[in-house]
Amino acid sequence: MSNEELWQAVLAQLQFQISPANFATWLKNTYILSKKDGELLISVPNNFSKEWLENKYNKPIFRIIRELDGEIRELRYTVGAPPQQPKPAQPTQRAAVSAPPTPQLELEELKIDHATNLNPKYTFDTFVVGPFNELAHAASLAICKTPGSVYNPFFVYGGVGLGKTHLLQAIGGKIAEGFAEKRIRYMTSERFTTGVVSAIRNHAMDNFRSLYRELDVLIIDDIQFLAGKDKTQEELFHTFNALYERGKQIIFSSDRPPKSIPAMEERLRSRFEGGMIADISNPDFESRLAILKTKIAEYNIEVADDVCEYIVSHIQRNIRELEGALNRLLAFHRLNNKTPTLQEARTLLRSVIQNPSRVVSPKKIMQTVAEFYDLKEREIIAISRKKEVVRPRQIAMYLLREELKSSYPLIGKRFGGKDHTTAIYACEKISKEIQESESFFDEINLIKQRIYNG
Ligand code: ADP
Ligand code: MG
Repeated sequence: MSNEELWQAVLAQLQFQISPANFATWLKNTYILSKKDGELLISVPNNFSKEWLENKYNKPIFRIIRELDGEIRELRYTVGAPPQQPKPAQPTQRAAVSAPPTPQLELEELKIDHATNLNPKYTFDTFVVGPFNELAHAASLAICKTPGSVYNPFFVYGGVGLGKTHLLQAIGGKIAEGFAEKRIRYMTSERFTTGVVSAIRNHAMDNFRSLYRELDVLIIDDIQFLAGKDKTQEELFHTFNALYERGKQIIFSSDRPPKSIPAMEERLRSRFEGGMIADISNPDFESRLAILKTKIAEYNIEVADDVCEYIVSHIQRNIRELEGALNRLLAFHRLNNKTPTLQEARTLLRSVIQNPSRVVSPKKIMQTVAEFYDLKEREIIAISRKKEVVRPRQIAMYLLREELKSSYPLIGKRFGGKDHTTAIYACEKISKEIQESESFFDEINLIKQRIYNG
């Protein structure tokens, strides 16, 4: 195995242990510089990466490497120049039809357009549509035809890795294609927050405002991160009004519907609800299969049907994980020059395939519920009767009962030593409400998704 192949194989496995954001940050532009006397020297782009890899990721990396190459006994990191690979310099130009890419891992794309923040890799062409996302997709296409006039604002929500960013980016890209004169900007809500904070600090608020208010299309991703950020919310509210009044298109995404975002100003929430709201749910079997096959086709390799079906019947949680499995197939293909058989795929994917009886701990449930409602875990455990705490507590009790079949006395005990009748009351109340309110049912499902996904 060449150094390059070895490193690719390491990265392919490592991405399952590291969040995509961290993966891109710490592992971009890393490669093996040399392998000598059992020592592997890894080149990293800067001191930050070096520190992180040494202190935080060295163990998992080492473990993976040992499996691949038992001779290696030590890893060292050194700051070096990235490999000399000329990068295309024109970010806005779309790639002409070219030879299919050779199988390789998709690391961070470097082609992001700086004026719009749009990444050309996310298009409608590569967006697979199924029952789980067809409403959001149809609304998106309508918006691209006449931005600002139908569905405004447009609010898309759904769990992690289900295609929100892809869809928002595709909308931006398609509007850019159809309307060259329109000024479009895609932002994460963190980025928007940073903008507000630095504008305040530098007394540059006017400048900041006029920058946003000149836009024709404003896209803000993951709006749930604005929870509790009052100043940013206020600024967004004014930006929203200024754009909306002039018929400009505004698009938001979130991991939950507007009414379930905690600590969100009422007036902003009602703006979100004033337009079109579409959700993306978990893809069904056929959709997952279609997505996997589409992605496989992009790499121009052949994967047997039984292998594809094996993958999609075992990876059900989200599309990002499907891509993770695909990357393993690609790494396998690189190393062996063939695609795996079903038997090989089983081995290859063993550590990513979820075990249906994956253990969820009570702590995980309590933490997730608390986090969902923007509370501390200890707040929902304590005896407070404050309304904003009581309800999440009841939900946590209900989920302990439903998901773990915990006994009522035990549930009561977990929450500050309450009586089992309190637990029974909570569980009955919540399950009744779930039957009565569809939106509450959705809310509970979002929490469950997080419990199992996170
Ligand atoms: P989210 O923003 O909801 O967390 P992303 O948009 O980042 O999810 O999607 C995760 C990955 O799955 C991305 O690489 C994206 O391209 C891919 N993906 C999501 N939805 C689809 C789809 N409908 N068809 C094809 N690929 C998809
Ligand atoms: Mg996203």
